[in-house]
Amino acid sequence: RLLTPFSNDNPYHFLFLSSGDNATAARHLLSLTSRPHTAGTPANYITALYVLNTFSLLNFQAHVTSYKVSLTYPIFRSVDAKFPATNTTSRLSLKQEPCKGDPYSETLEALPTFHAYAKTGQAIGEAIYVNYGRERDFALLKGMGISVEGKVVLARYGEIFRGDIVNNAMEEGAIGAVIYTDPKDYGGNHGSHPEARWMPPSGVQVGSVRRGIGDPSTPGWASIEGCERLERERMEKGLPSIPSLPISAKDAKVIVAGLEGPLVDEDWQGALDVGAYRVGPGPVTLNLTYIGELKEMKIHNVFAVIKGAVEPDRYVLMGNHRDAWTFGAVDPSSGTAALLEIAQRLAKLQKWGWRPRRSIILCSWDAEEYGLIGSTEWVEENREMLGSKVVAYLNVDSAVSEARFHASATPQLDHLLKEAAQKVKDPDDSTKTVYDSWIESGDPPLIGRLGGKGKDYAAFLQHIGIPAVDMSFRGAFPVYHSLYDDFVWMKKFGDPSFQRHVAVGSIWGLVALRLADEEFLPFNYSAYASELHSNTKALETPGLDKSLSFSPLYNSIKELEKAASKIMKERKALEEDGWASRFRKENALLVRDLNDRLMMAERAFADPDGLFGRPWHKHLVYGPSNHDQYGSRSFPGVEDAIVEARRSNTTESWAFVQHQIWRVSRVVSQASLVLRGDF
Ligand code: GLU
Ligand code: ZN
Ligand code: ZN
Repeated sequence: RLLTPFSNDNPYHFLFLSSGDNATAARHLLSLTSRPHTAGTPANYITALYVLNTFSLLNFQAHVTSYKVSLTYPIFRSVDAKFPATNTTSRLSLKQEPCKGDPYSETLEALPTFHAYAKTGQAIGEAIYVNYGRERDFALLKGMGISVEGKVVLARYGEIFRGDIVNNAMEEGAIGAVIYTDPKDYGGNHGSHPEARWMPPSGVQVGSVRRGIGDPSTPGWASIEGCERLERERMEKGLPSIPSLPISAKDAKVIVAGLEGPLVDEDWQGALDVGAYRVGPGPVTLNLTYIGELKEMKIHNVFAVIKGAVEPDRYVLMGNHRDAWTFGAVDPSSGTAALLEIAQRLAKLQKWGWRPRRSIILCSWDAEEYGLIGSTEWVEENREMLGSKVVAYLNVDSAVSEARFHASATPQLDHLLKEAAQKVKDPDDSTKTVYDSWIESGDPPLIGRLGGKGKDYAAFLQHIGIPAVDMSFRGAFPVYHSLYDDFVWMKKFGDPSFQRHVAVGSIWGLVALRLADEEFLPFNYSAYASELHSNTKALETPGLDKSLSFSPLYNSIKELEKAASKIMKERKALEEDGWASRFRKENALLVRDLNDRLMMAERAFADPDGLFGRPWHKHLVYGPSNHDQYGSRSFPGVEDAIVEARRSNTTESWAFVQHQIWRVSRVVSQASLVLRGDF
């Protein structure tokens, strides 16, 4: 077969794959991580200029879009542990120690450790250990007759989104929360950074505890100059209502050692050197004080546009955030370094004559750590424009922390991801492709789903219904959101040769190139339909009300399956027409129509009314789990309704489940009509 401009074997794509450069990735990472660069700080503005400058030097059309948003910074923090038996008090250090062999850790520029958007206030009460702070942990305590009401909870990090730990504690009546890093989950008992990859004893995981996303002062609309904003009091209603702080293993040890009372089970035991972990409450009491300031700050998204030669009004977006809690060598600068290394390869392709068919837009988001703010404000500002033009959003946050490839996607993109991973060598074993190692080491399902919050694809997928992908090389990353996520850690443990950075860039870039260059969008909706079928099956668990019927949903999925094969047949017919005839104008319009149907089918899953009680979340197929927003759920509206009906078991609650099933089946039918392109 001849290599035509339409062939899947685009020669430029081979050139792209063969021009990866680890030294470029390393150089960018070194520059980006020279200082802590938290959103709103001058140091992070400098990273925006660095990215802008890199894009401009490569001759891309580049620009910055800024927003004013409400961010928080710590002003005062203290935690005192009081031991009534000895009448002594110990003040926790709340300080991450510099370590020998890592000069970065001596910085004076990092923010004091805190929880973004934590409530300003004081909580004085007995300490109580609540394990990972999950719903089930609190349920277990309740079952033992232990109440957390009026107590200050001590929870460990590692299972759910920290904002849900605080929220779960608040719902149980706790008045404050401290969340710590246990060596059982983050290592460190037998050596830590910079001798080993584990968290040093004084290391603290900083992070946001807000459950919403975007600027809290503009929920649902963009924070542009002069826009409507919530009054302070209304905005604060959406923020956590009890104070909280993150602490280190070293500080937590003081508290755990002061707890008496019952043991729970083995699952509740950590690895601090204090003997058995008891729940309390008390006798140790905690006095937690936190004062934060909420400030309107300027944030900066940076874009580079590579204009499409044939369909400039169709966009393939590649995005990564740039703000970090400290140096952010892994999170997120490894992703930024990969993005800039890709930019360099694309500039080379342009020199060799490549012009993408569709436009490719490189996006560098700000204030992700505060709740995906940069990406969300941009999506809210441009909702209608993006809804009609974006083919797919391809996210990479932390590109590299270890050797295992992970990916999540909306299902029509599964096969494209797998094909891209088959074209790239495993950076740690040149006898294999990334795909080979991925299927060998990955626990099924191979490809995850994107319902969770926590990353910048959320607004694209969950608010507008744009097909999306997220990927990384990962594994143990115990220094996550701590002072020690720096260049030294990356060079020693994350990616010493920077070949993993290049491999992420190759897969990420190849997916983008195929979406941008192929005449027909490589979307497979049959895969989507079969995924929906198994998701529906998974809902049919024992104990549901007998009146409940999933038939409307199964029927609409069957229609989707038919529409998916119909569009593949149409595509084949157009392809068999011979490529020369495609230059005829009417065929070009047929191709465009077919692609538009493929692009828009996902939009149909975004319902104008959104998930029940969470109207900003429009997508009815994928959304965040209610008690762990990192977790992805399929048909979250139906699932929530089932949980509620199981609890209350009333006729109305089961009728509400049925209504949610109908709603989902209707958006699936809408998707079929879009794909079919007739009525
Ligand atoms: N990725 C950040 C985190 O995990 C932000 C998450 C969010 O607020 O959605 O802390
Ligand atoms: Zn990140
Ligand atoms: Zn992060």
